[in-house]
Amino acid sequence: MAYLCKDCSYRGTKSGQVGECPACGSHNLSKRTTTFREQPPPTKWRLVVLVALWGFLIALIIGKLVN
Ligand SMILES: [Zn+2]
Repeated sequence: MAYLCKDCSYRGTKSGQVGECPACGSHNLSKRTTTFREQPPPTKWRLVVLVALWGFLIALIIGKLVN
């Protein structure tokens, strides 16, 4: 069980004795039965774009150093 406070964005597995937020004492907590899902791995085209951007940046820096 995970808790998410809507007032102070507290996230944790514990709540107060009467279900209040342990961080700010608000009762505006939402319970989550599922654990927070991990981000899916980046797709291949994203990796290609990232590499292309880095290549462009490095080429830009080298170009400035040469001139
Ligand atoms: Zn809170």
